[in-house]
Amino acid sequence: MIVNKDKCIGCGRCLIYCPVRAIRIVNRKAEIDQNMCTECANCQRAAVCSQDALEKVPLEWPRQVRSQMSDVTTVYRGVNGRGTEEMKTNDVTHRYKKGFAGIAVEMGRPQVSTTLRDLEKISMALAEHGAEFEERNPITSYIVDLKTGKINPEILDERVISGIVEVTVPIEKLQECVEAVIEEADNIDTVFSLDVVCVNNEDGTNDARNILDAAGIWYRPNAKNNVGLGHVD
Ligand code: SF4
Ligand code: SF4
Repeated sequence: MIVNKDKCIGCGRCLIYCPVRAIRIVNRKAEIDQNMCTECANCQRAAVCSQDALEKVPLEWPRQVRSQMSDVTTVYRGVNGRGTEEMKTNDVTHRYKKGFAGIAVEMGRPQVSTTLRDLEKISMALAEHGAEFEERNPITSYIVDLKTGKINPEILDERVISGIVEVTVPIEKLQECVEAVIEEADNIDTVFSLDVVCVNNEDGTNDARNILDAAGIWYRPNAKNNVGLGHVD
């Protein structure tokens, strides 16, 4: 995103619509910090600029990655923005089978953001413990070696509002994978949440919960009630 300085009157109305505070007023004109800008287009979509001074410009590679991951109107790999489809509706998609657990590490947030470099630290930590990357996840498409979790080096410094590393692991590997992510946390320059998905047993117990309890790893149990509006491709 750029500011057309010939049009901008420096009113400052666009500033609060930027989720990473990349816009500031300098010499009575808006200025966008191009390193911080995630190309999310929120500022323009908010339609608060009376001068039409905020302009989207065609993005070259690797900057396109910012838009692919941060602009909800950009459809990339069939997904709008950073998201993965239907991760939390396993009763419809059956992505996580008995004997396996899903792990999702949701990195970055509005106001904080993240980079592909941080996402790579987590993808590599998980790959080291035999995790399998979710095929349809946008981050997976940036990984050049699924065995190591290495992301295309050309894009490591691209900033995005958030991204999700999403994997499946055999249930017996769950504890080591979760511990690997927790250990990597000190090296990560953003916030993240760690989700574990596992289907209940018929008697209502849950293998993932048993493992995390035994390992003394704190978590907040969460369930999603599906009302039948999910879908399968
Ligand atoms: S495109 Fe997004 S990140 Fe960039 S200046 Fe606009 S609101 Fe901020
Ligand atoms: S809203 Fe438009 S005119 Fe006002 S500071 Fe932002 S870009 Fe400039």
